Amino acid sequence: MKKLIKGISEFQKSTFPNNREFFQELANQQDPEVMFLTCCDSRVDPSLITETDPGDLFIHRNVGNIVPPHSLATGGVTASIEFAVSVLGVQYIIVCGHTDCGAMKGAMQPDIAKSLPHVHNWLSHSAAALARVSARHDELSVDEHLHEMTKENVLLQLRHLETHPSVATSMAKENLELHGWIYNIGSGEVTCFDSEKGTFVSVQDRYAHLHTTEWKETKVDRRF
Ligand SMILES: [Zn+2]
Repeated sequence: MKKLIKGISEFQKSTFPNNREFFQELANQQDPEVMFLTCCDSRVDPSLITETDPGDLFIHRNVGNIVPPHSLATGGVTASIEFAVSVLGVQYIIVCGHTDCGAMKGAMQPDIAKSLPHVHNWLSHSAAALARVSARHDELSVDEHLHEMTKENVLLQLRHLETHPSVATSMAKENLELHGWIYNIGSGEVTCFDSEKGTFVSVQDRYAHLHTTEWKETKVDRRF
């Protein structure tokens, strides 16, 4: 807690006054291009790994970067998606899983229901991913199993996203794209699902079409 209090004092003393104009521009509006949906894990920092600024990402986090399929029940994820898509008009939703994910480990442990009933219920939204991994691979090491589960879970949540009417509408109008990423905490690597290749590839390969000379030579314009 001391670190946070010290950090706020530092922010108010230097970062904010040094960028006062920028924060004034943000004071009454936001116009993010991307909704970034990821895990609560403390080691995953969306703004840090993407070198983005306040106002760039509309972030939703939950245990396991899960998107429950659309239903009549209202939940926080559903409301965030609806707001991001229908009000803010985000053009991209990125579901970003990560290595060493405790939620994915939990989803692979049937005993979790006894001690963590809510986590168990929540992770049932990943059950189909576990079923696919188990059906396809029967001789994986624990680490390999976890890695495959993490990838399948991201793909499953992308499919769940498409069941949400706001997402379906925006995709039908070709105003929205869904992307699946995995962040490797130990290496800093980000891999992205390539639907044409049917596998996760490096961010540079996946977005080669955005890889212009200008982009290569220009340093990321990050404020902080
Ligand atoms: Zn996680």
